[in-house]
Amino acid sequence: MELSAGVEKMSVGQPPAGRGAACLTCKGICSGFQPHSWRKACTQCLCSQEDHAPSSDSEDDRKMGRLLADSRYAHLTAKVKGGDGLRVYKRNRMIITNPVVSRKDPTFNTITYDWAPPGLTQKLAILYMELLPEERRPMSGTDGALYRRKQLMRQLPIYDQDPAQCHGLSDPEAQAMALFVKSYKEEALGVGEVALPGERGAPRDDATKQKNGKSAPDHQGPPTNGVLGDGGKKSEYRCDRCGEPAAADSPVVYAERAGRDRLWHPTCFVCAECGEALVDLVYFWKDDALLCGRHYCQRRRPRCLGCDELIFSEGYKQGPDGQAWHKDHFCCWVCGQPIGARCSCSQRSRPL
Ligand SMILES: [Zn+2]
Ligand SMILES: [Zn+2]
Ligand SMILES: [Zn+2]
Ligand SMILES: [Zn+2]
Ligand SMILES: [Zn+2]
Ligand SMILES: [Zn+2]
Repeated sequence: MELSAGVEKMSVGQPPAGRGAACLTCKGICSGFQPHSWRKACTQCLCSQEDHAPSSDSEDDRKMGRLLADSRYAHLTAKVKGGDGLRVYKRNRMIITNPVVSRKDPTFNTITYDWAPPGLTQKLAILYMELLPEERRPMSGTDGALYRRKQLMRQLPIYDQDPAQCHGLSDPEAQAMALFVKSYKEEALGVGEVALPGERGAPRDDATKQKNGKSAPDHQGPPTNGVLGDGGKKSEYRCDRCGEPAAADSPVVYAERAGRDRLWHPTCFVCAECGEALVDLVYFWKDDALLCGRHYCQRRRPRCLGCDELIFSEGYKQGPDGQAWHKDHFCCWVCGQPIGARCSCSQRSRPL
């Protein structure tokens, strides 16, 4: 596997994505996303970029391609033709065609999923989708698909991956960021695999689980040590988050970084910090926990409350509760004057 060392070519002057997109939060007030020069927010309605209709599939696929390239998940990406080594996500779309039998002339009912777990039979992929709540299934054109797109922005911000997407990084800061990205690709980044219990590894020894502590935080009641009442489908496999058994015929998620003896119910494969379903099964493994990209990065670097980018400079402003700002981003939302200077704007302390 070839690793591209150092800072990649800067693509300066790229317009921020989604300009003009309608705000989904305050319908009517905002006539379209007007990006602030450095905040990830709209200057018209002050809502975040995610509140506006998200970027395009092709932008998302390029971002995912960049994230997974140079990692052990590069097989989920493909080279862009004439793209100078650029890689794009080989997103697994799934199209299901069901004949409608109620009529004389057979018609077909087609469902497209914008994303489905790769490497599965359609039967298992459908079983997986059916385990998700309906509003979270990424069916094209539905709220589930929108939820997925928003989570891609939220959990995997492009400016956590690409120094060229950050504002005003000095050369040493850009280099520090490139090293940081390289290190998380080597140490933490993973993509969950959907399989039936037992297809990827032996069940977890409960004694080890107790020793490690920390697992199954919102587990109700004591573990029953794999002993189930009569009747139910016995399974010695237990979900690492909820501690409940995983049915032998129901797909689960494995995370290579966590070890082959752990598995999760599809709805339990969530970020330990924000509790959101890990989008496209992309996780970061740290301190015995699954995290989304955003929360993994925030555990390792401070994040600026003004521009939402990670901070790689030495000097930055710290708040009493661990908040952080780039020095020149600790300022009034409206007029941009430093907090502390007297301005008469009403929204001066509005956080992003
Ligand atoms: Zn807006
Ligand atoms: Zn808005
Ligand atoms: Zn579970
Ligand atoms: Zn999270
Ligand atoms: Zn900032
Ligand atoms: Zn002001």
